[in-house]
Amino acid sequence: MQDRTVLTEKPGGSAIDQLIVRVQNRVILGENEPELPIFVTNFVSPRLYLASRARGVQISTWQSAGISGYAGLEPLSYLVICGLLGLAEWRCLIGNPLLIEEDFNHSQPSDCLFSSRPSKPEYAQLFEQPHICGSCFDFYCCLGAENEILALNAFLARTHVA
Ligand SMILES: [Zn+2]
Repeated sequence: MQDRTVLTEKPGGSAIDQLIVRVQNRVILGENEPELPIFVTNFVSPRLYLASRARGVQISTWQSAGISGYAGLEPLSYLVICGLLGLAEWRCLIGNPLLIEEDFNHSQPSDCLFSSRPSKPEYAQLFEQPHICGSCFDFYCCLGAENEILALNAFLARTHVA
């Protein structure tokens, strides 16, 4: 059995907390759907997260301590960033039935948080100046994940360690 822990945020007073709660409220689909399809697991994955229509968002904590340590991020902040990245992709998937996983491959080499790296430790580079590029901003907002992208940008603005 995988160790699965649901990542939750309680409503708070700050604007970013309210944004995240708003994102989470959008996740609730109905009585037969999981209320919050974000799972934090330690499965071995070369990626920060996996998003699928059927299984929601799985954040892999495997080798992530090195990334968050390198970036000077609190582990919870790291998880929130990965969670919002995954939620944005998941939101696009459930809202656009024709999209497939390959549609989310980054179009050109970039340090954008949505770009991929061949191995997990190399993702640390993306957290040096964590940001979403203009192409991804437009892509994800167009496909229905505007709330998730805005929450992510607001969270990055709050947590960025110069
Ligand atoms: Zn991008």
